[in-house]
Amino acid sequence: MSAVLEVDRNGPLFTSQRTSLRRTSLTNRDTHRIRKRSLALISFLEEVKMATGHTEKDSTNQKLQFAPFCSALEAGFWHQLTQKKLNDYRLDESPRSIKGYFYNGDPAGLPTRLTLEFSAFDATGPTPARCCTALGTLYNMNTFEAFKTFDKKLLLEKEANEIWESVQSETVLENPSLLTKFILLTFADLKKYRFYYWFCFPALCFAEGIQVLQPPVPLEEKFSQKQIAALQGAYDDLCNERGTTAIPYFLMKYTGEAVLLSSLHNWNTFFKGQKKVTVGVYDPCTLSQHPGWPLRNLLVLIASKWGSVLDAVEVLCFRDQTLQGKRSIQHSIVFQIKLPELSLSTGCPKSVGWEKNQKGVMGPRMVNLSECMDPKRLAESSVDLNLKLMRWRLVPSLDLEKVVSTKCLLLGAGTLGCNVARTLMGWGVRHITFVDNAKISYSNPVRQPLYEFEDCLGGGKSKALAAVERLKKIFPGVSAEGHNMSIPMPGHPVDFSEVTMAQARQDVEQLEALVSAHDVVFLLMDTRESRWLPTVIAASQRKVVINAALGFDTFVVMRHGLKKPKHVESGGSSPSSASCTPVSASTSSSSSSSTPGGPALVPGASLFSNIPGHRLGCYFCNDVVAPGDSTRDRTLDQQCTVSRPGLAMIAGALAVELMISILQHPEGGYAVASSSDDRMNEPPTSLGLAPHQIRGFLSRFDNVLPASLAFDKCTACSTIVLDNYEREGFQFLSKVFNSSHSFLEDLTGLTLLHQETQAAERGSGPGREQVPHGPLAAAPEESGRRGVRHLCADVKKLFFVPLG
Ligand SMILES: [Zn+2]
Repeated sequence: MSAVLEVDRNGPLFTSQRTSLRRTSLTNRDTHRIRKRSLALISFLEEVKMATGHTEKDSTNQKLQFAPFCSALEAGFWHQLTQKKLNDYRLDESPRSIKGYFYNGDPAGLPTRLTLEFSAFDATGPTPARCCTALGTLYNMNTFEAFKTFDKKLLLEKEANEIWESVQSETVLENPSLLTKFILLTFADLKKYRFYYWFCFPALCFAEGIQVLQPPVPLEEKFSQKQIAALQGAYDDLCNERGTTAIPYFLMKYTGEAVLLSSLHNWNTFFKGQKKVTVGVYDPCTLSQHPGWPLRNLLVLIASKWGSVLDAVEVLCFRDQTLQGKRSIQHSIVFQIKLPELSLSTGCPKSVGWEKNQKGVMGPRMVNLSECMDPKRLAESSVDLNLKLMRWRLVPSLDLEKVVSTKCLLLGAGTLGCNVARTLMGWGVRHITFVDNAKISYSNPVRQPLYEFEDCLGGGKSKALAAVERLKKIFPGVSAEGHNMSIPMPGHPVDFSEVTMAQARQDVEQLEALVSAHDVVFLLMDTRESRWLPTVIAASQRKVVINAALGFDTFVVMRHGLKKPKHVESGGSSPSSASCTPVSASTSSSSSSSTPGGPALVPGASLFSNIPGHRLGCYFCNDVVAPGDSTRDRTLDQQCTVSRPGLAMIAGALAVELMISILQHPEGGYAVASSSDDRMNEPPTSLGLAPHQIRGFLSRFDNVLPASLAFDKCTACSTIVLDNYEREGFQFLSKVFNSSHSFLEDLTGLTLLHQETQAAERGSGPGREQVPHGPLAAAPEESGRRGVRHLCADVKKLFFVPLG
């Protein structure tokens, strides 16, 4: 074998791994096999690294080795080939122009991929941003026999000759993508949806290999930060100048400060007979000691055109990664080589390029897509792929499994519910359940994107059921359920008859069962009191709750505090003290001693900072009145539906994104709340902050991220309410439904609080010890000085937007 190390011994296995991963019905054996192969791949890459590290010491004898391309064919490509074969090519076997692309921003560990997707057949169509085009020729055979007996040696020679001719005629200087070509030989068994294929990436070889003068080092070891910044700027300028987002090859000159780049065709004027030159290659390889395949034919071009005057060639393998919004090219590698002479008289050099198969030997590959050629399955695999690309390219630590498997209960299928559901689908969430008792009316479809005019006819379809129908039309892979039911509310009596009582009991039981069967509960209703019962049930069951509510041009999106698990809570007197976050320098810690009866405040946890998830408040914690019948005496402009039309989309999307961030946090719902002050700090999750609340003000196009503590007199999540609910169940709940709001206020001590506040205001002094603790009192200096009502008013100004 030549000096070329065939790094793809295991590499191409990754291709089949990706293809099979996107089949949805993976068997355990498949997964096991894939895992084994990935491990084999990783250990092999390590092996390669070690082997080459070994020879580094003796760099005089080291020969340059390249990581070959691995073919990465997406299910969409095969689907499109099937369509072409059936409707267009039929029995015509003539070669077709296709195209693929490669990318130089993959995280370390991924093999050097050449990707072909459904768009491959549009050879002149656009290439994805920041990717380089590879031009290819497809030979699709009619029979397996023709596929097997095709003269591959001849085909490779023919292709290599074309590359060689374009080098000699210098057409490659104007069109450098002629250096990165490929051949794809296929046979499509459309009865069984089995596709046989063999890839070839033709590369011209130097008979004696290429001598390494200086082994590869990362760019940051060779260049100063200033030079790196200059290089990045110069590369972007060159891209802009050429009207593209990626350039396969470029020429380079640099000094201590400046970096100059130019296109390949300017070689003679740019280098002016220099004996040592630097060239850049867009490098899809992620190995630290090896360039990828695209460099090979460039070196042949350089040797053939300018080799006789060159002593040394410095190569920059340009790698351009953006992770979590941060772009970096410092991991690019640089090395120096001595190019051997190319004898022009002997004609086209020897060539290599056929890809090895899954077993690591020369031979075709086969992919069985009988399952995913079903368009429904294809949709599923495409959805998954989209999300995986996000992980591969931008957020490697993203835990998609967790997102996809999260079961979401959406209480309310109106403007918010529709928008939340659509965003959940975008994230690949598969399990969505709606609860709503309303019917679709004529005003709904324009604002509620799951409904259409037809749904309003004949009195209107049930929202919960119609929403499910639509979700399945949008994405058949979704597992959606709808429940047309009411949620009993405080201040809305249910004791008119035995029938109504029985119905309420049944509704409560059903809601309890639904909350229990889901991981996250979204509160998306249009009244305040309808959020009370699910808040209580979810708090008792320790479920993550995401709440969204709209005003006219303001909204709140928040997660409810997640109480510690019951066995932890009852176990110790102060379970929170061990896990609380460090005291913030800016907050006083002398505040919490005055009310022994209240919950122990976390030292340093102020209204705004360092509040752990289990101490965060719920939607009702900021209230000093219990929920009652808010629809009765409410003006129209306080109702949820009268809000700026964009508001529900913004709030719905934020509600889902908040859930995703919480899921990505290692502590989930117990995550410490991020606040607006944390915007400049190191984010706690791979996606950024995990706030308690997002309060938006559309009139100012502004969002703030307040956080507040749970209130020990909260009418929904306080211990006394949860204790009563857990002890008495429906007995307790029916009392709340059937009584006036004073029932909950009496129970939680709010009534007393009001009386005390009034007494304090009548002039009996500031009464420091009478001031309650809770979110309203958490700013101690203020609460001591002023009455609680003033504080309430302040807090309301701060936090309260008119909510539904
Ligand atoms: Zn609460």
